[in-house]
Parts: sequence; C-alpha cells; structure tokens
Amino acid sequence: MSTLIQVALDTPLPRLFDYRLPAACGSLPEGTLVEVPFGRTRQVGVAFGAPPGGTAVESGKLREILQVLDDRPPVAPDVLALARFCADYYHHPLGAVLLAALPPRLRSARPFTAETPWLVVTEAGRTAALPARAKAQRALLDVLCAAPQTREALRARQQMRHAAALVAAGCATWSRQPPLSPEALPSADLPSATQAQQYALDTLLPVLDRFGVHLVHGVTGSGKTELYLRLIAAVLDQGRQALVLIPEIALTPQLEGHFQARFPARRIAALHSGLAERARAENWLAAPDCDILLGTRLAVFAPLPRLGLIVVDEEHDGSFKQQDGLRYSARDVAVARGKQARVAVVLGSATPSLESYAQAQNGRYRLLELKTRAHPEARLPDIELADLRHLPQEHGFTQPARTALAETLVRGEQSLVFLNRRGYAPALYCPSCAWVAPCPHCSARLVLHRRSHRLRCHHCGHEVRIPDVCPNCGEPDLKPLGLGTQRLEETLAALLPAARIRRIDRDSMHPRAWAELGEAVRARDVDVLVGTQMLAKGHDFPDMTLALILDTDGGLYSPDFRATERLFAQLMQVAGRAGRADKPGRVLIQTAFPDHPLFRHLQRHDYSGYAQILLAERKALDLPPYTRQVLLRAEAPAMDAALGFLQRAAQAAPALPDVNVFAPTPAPMARVANLERAQLLIQSASRPALHAFVRDWRPALDAIRPRVARWSLDVDPLAF
Ligand code: ADP
Ligand code: ZN
Ligand code: ZN
Repeated sequence: MSTLIQVALDTPLPRLFDYRLPAACGSLPEGTLVEVPFGRTRQVGVAFGAPPGGTAVESGKLREILQVLDDRPPVAPDVLALARFCADYYHHPLGAVLLAALPPRLRSARPFTAETPWLVVTEAGRTAALPARAKAQRALLDVLCAAPQTREALRARQQMRHAAALVAAGCATWSRQPPLSPEALPSADLPSATQAQQYALDTLLPVLDRFGVHLVHGVTGSGKTELYLRLIAAVLDQGRQALVLIPEIALTPQLEGHFQARFPARRIAALHSGLAERARAENWLAAPDCDILLGTRLAVFAPLPRLGLIVVDEEHDGSFKQQDGLRYSARDVAVARGKQARVAVVLGSATPSLESYAQAQNGRYRLLELKTRAHPEARLPDIELADLRHLPQEHGFTQPARTALAETLVRGEQSLVFLNRRGYAPALYCPSCAWVAPCPHCSARLVLHRRSHRLRCHHCGHEVRIPDVCPNCGEPDLKPLGLGTQRLEETLAALLPAARIRRIDRDSMHPRAWAELGEAVRARDVDVLVGTQMLAKGHDFPDMTLALILDTDGGLYSPDFRATERLFAQLMQVAGRAGRADKPGRVLIQTAFPDHPLFRHLQRHDYSGYAQILLAERKALDLPPYTRQVLLRAEAPAMDAALGFLQRAAQAAPALPDVNVFAPTPAPMARVANLERAQLLIQSASRPALHAFVRDWRPALDAIRPRVARWSLDVDPLAF
C-alpha cells in the first residue's frame, strides 16, 4: 500500500509532480523535504498533500520518493505562504521559489546535523490540545513540558518523527541553547527621544500588531536606527520576533554587535550570503527561536512563527532586488509578508525610492518624517559646486577641491572622496589609433586594474594581462582612460604626501575588512577615505567633515530613467556622511552641469522637492511608479535567435486593452559572457491587468519550440 503526494521541484515548469509515498513513511506534513528521482537525476523537493482528484500519471510510470529528509524540519507554514505569494506575483514556479528560498546546504540531500540540539516546548505547546490518536506526540510533549530534550536522545528513542510533527504543529521548536531565563533587560542610559522620534513612536506603537506600511523618511543621522530599536523593544516585550532587513552584507556584523549590546538577553540571528554554507543553514534553523533576525534580502524568507514587526532599512537600495533566478524585491516581499502575518512594516530611508514615496503620497503608506539630525549640535552640511566648465582640472581635481582637502588635513579632520566607479581606470586605450580594450565575450570594455597588472571584465569576470603594445597598431604607450579609485588614490597620495589614505570599493571589501576599516577611521588612523558606492551606505564617522564628489555627470544624462533618482539618493547619502557630530560638514561636488535641478535641490537638502519633480516626469512619460512593468528577457548565442524568440512571444501575447506590448530590442548590455541578450517590455497602468496578462501568456511562452533561447520574466524590473 502506498499513497500519492505532490512534490514541488526546482524546474522551469510551473507545476507540481506526483510521486508514490511508501506506506512506511506515514503521512508527511506539508513542507517536508524529500528526495525524489527526476528524469535520470535525483532532486530535493518539497512535499505537499495528495494530488486533488488523483494523478494523471499511469500507475506503471509513477515513481516512488527515495527518502524523507527528516534530519531537517519541514518548510514552515509562513514560508510556504510567502513562497505561494512569490510564485504568483513573480510568475515563477513554486518549486523554484521554495528551493531558492532555502539555504543551499538544506537543498542538498546530504545528511545534515544541525547544531540546534535542543527541542524546546513553545508557549503554544504548553496549552495545546492534540488529537486523541496522537498518543506518542502527546507523551513527548509532556516530557518536553518538564524539560527540553536533546536531538541525540530523541533519535536514540526513535522519536524524531513525533518531534517533527510537534514542531510542524507549533508545539515545540529546535533551539541552539536551552531556553534563556527571562533576565531583566539592561536599562542603559538611553537618550530621551527627539520630538520627531517621539511622534513616530506614539504613532507606530499602537499599530504594530496590524498590517500597515510606514515610510520613515528621515535625514541621515536623524535617529532612524534608534527609532527601530525602540519599536523592536516593544515587540520583543510581547514575546514576538522582529525581522530587520538591511542592504549590505558588510554592515551586518557591525549592526549585529550594536543590536546585541542593546538587547543582551535576546537571541539575534544573522542571515546573509557572506556566511559559510553551514552557518547559513544553522542560522536559518535557529530563526524560529530567535528574537531578532537581521539580514540581507534573502532573510525575508526565513521562518519566523512569532513575527511581530518588519523593518527594511535603506529601503531605496537597489540590492534588495535579486538580479537573477527569482528576481524578487525583498522590500516588496517584506510588505507582502507583513500583510500575511498582519504586522507593521517599517520602511526607512533618507532618500526613499520613488515607488515607496508615491505610495506615501497617495495614502497607501503612512509617511513619518524625521527632518533634523538627532544629535543636538549636528547640522546638515553646506553643499558647494565646482563648475567644471570654468575650472581647470589636474588629474581629476579642481583647485577648490585640492584646497578643501589640504585644509581639512591641516585641521586634523577627515575627508571622503567619492567616485562612482571601481578599478584603476574604466579602460585602457591607445592614443595613436583610439583602440580601447574590449571584453571578447561582452559588449563592455575591460577595466584596468593596475596593481594586479590585469584587465578585467566587470560583467563576466574575463581577465587578461595588460598588453605591452596596442594589439591594433603596435603603439607601446597605452594610456588609462578616465578615472578610477586606484588611480585616484595614487593622485591623492601625490597631492597630499602627508595624508594616510585608504581606498574602499567592491574590489577590496569583506565584512571583516570593513569592520577593521571602520575602527581605523574612528581611531583617526585614516585621513582620506577614497571609494565608490560602499561609502553611500549607513555609517557614522564623527570626524569626517569633508565629502568630495568627483565625476557624477554620467548619471545626469543616462538612458536609464532611474539614473537621476539613484544619483540624487547617492549624493544625499554621501553628503550625509559629512559632519555628523559637533563639527560642521562640507560637501564639494565637481560638475559641468551646475544648473541641473538635481543640484539645486541637493543644496537645499530637499529630497521631497526633487522627488516631486521626478514623479511629475515619470507621470508625464508613463513610467513607474505610475505604470507597472514586466520584462521578458531572452538570451542566446546569436542575437537573431534571442530576438526571434521574443518576436514569437509577442505574437503569442494575449490582446488586452490596458496592456502595452513593446517591440523586442537588444538589451543595453547586449552581450554578456558570449550570450546575446534581448528584451521585451510589457507595461500597464493596472497591476491586476498586467498580472492577468502574464498569467495567460506564460503557458504560450513555455510552449514556444524550438527552444532557441533561455528566457526569464522580470516583474518590476530595476535594471534593463
Ligand atoms: P540614522 O539611522 O537616521 O542615520 P542614527 O539612529 O544612526 O540615525 O542616529 C544618528 C546619531 O544620533 C547616532 O550617533 C545616535 O546615537 C544619535 N541619536 C539618535 N537618537 C538620538 C536622541 N534621541 N538623542 C540624542 N542622540 C540620538
Ligand atoms: Zn593602437
Ligand atoms: Zn565580459
């Protein structure tokens, strides 16, 4: 005798697969991980109940599951619900969503022994009424009410299945430690809340236990983090959990330390892709018992049965959007999760995304503003422009920039030099024939990395040694083109021989190195910090009084309609790094377009004013957030194949009056790693219309033969 179950697998097909379940396995709770044969391979999948209405597979062809992975808990109900939302919203197969949500180690059938050795009764378990036939579970629950049990002991007594059932029912939970005794929280000397913080607290505390999205727009240093901490404290006091999402891996250890110091008796778990596989799996398994889960975008999928609050810090940050596979936005998924769990979602930023800001303006999100810095003496910095049309530059620096750097150094204060690029210089070029080193696999130029003597493609990773002569004409004197952080560092060293200079960018930063750098800056071992995007992320350096911004003009006239929004946010954030404590800060921006409205609003620290302008533009041009977009991406070895696929897709598109289907075009970065990329944009003012369209369209896409191109759907695309 055997029963039938459906299994979700990581395949491109949006359906579940039927398998036989040996009777010896009993019945599996929904979400149980199983290993099954699939084609000629084996795969790990997620079990659901019996197929409604039986199976269409002939009984001779029906295969049996290979094993139940009961060394790990079933995917929790809250995670299943969120995965269902994502499968629907992103038009992605449920199995692919679920397996993308799981940490890689738990996706493997290799046995996993978690170092969460304790099975502990939950609050619900103490009062649970189990069905009469669940005698073994009842007995185990009684044992647990008396004392937590170790995994080893349970395994020895062959009670793992009952343990799993109790955990699935929410009566017990696996824990790294036996439960903490409820110690008193330290009442460290906290500053009294600022007026704006107090107003936000008074508004939010009464509504944390219901769904609502609250956009905290607070200038850098206005005390947003402090506000989150107080909201979290309230949630923890009710025995509930807080999920805190942040954009940057490098910032997690720092923030974790900060949170742990504030809540010494609470369990804080971290989840981000910088963790080793094992640690990531452990922390995922520990999530149901933790009090605060802190992590990057992938943490939004962690099991949190007592979720009481979600905070998304720096909600405007592009890294919340996953750029391959399941292309989700963790911010948007967080909002969906808040809705499912019926809890408040707090989005915070000094420069909210226009998507969120528009929602606050139309009243769907509540807007809370912190307009001044929390530190009583901290003021917002003065922002000056150096007009590149009139001022000559030497190695990228104008005279005012050089003077400002020298003066800051003499005063014994710190400077920040910001460049929106990485590598030594964007490219290597030949002054005789104008040859520029191209990547052989992409439509991109190779970036010069002088220290390692290599040219590297930042899209596909292709690397070569720097050629001795121009491969085109033989010219031996090849020159760097433009300015990169490495070259900037060298120029600065020549300009300020006495200064201690440190460079940071994606090429050189790991969380540990980042923490070490923060220490060095705070200890005043650094005079000038040179870097890229990383510098625009949340940081608090009290003696950093000058921010110098070079070479931003590319962002003012980019074909990407979000470029000005991003540039504005980045400049506001960088400016926010200057003068955070009692010393006044100064920001100097070199630009050839000093009359651009972006700078006018930046100089007044006027996010809202510029946001209004950008929103009006978006509205006039029918762009997000006033319209919704889905991008069908295709890639193939030849552009014709990719475009041909999209043409057929466009022909198969259902005709809906409110949905626009644009013409297929090559992607702006048309060639990456030897694949040609093309895209087809679908747009509608109505989200339901757009989703109904894609739902109708998807089966037609699956059916296009021959499959000349690999394709994917990107709902709410951020990068084109
Ligand atoms: P944000 O996250 O908005 O950039 P933070 O929460 O990091 O701001 O606060 C910036 C600085 O102000 C920190 O040094 C913090 O300790 C301080 N701060 C926050 N709230 C208060 C307050 N109510 N009174 C005095 N200082 C505060
Ligand atoms: Zn040449
Ligand atoms: Zn390349």
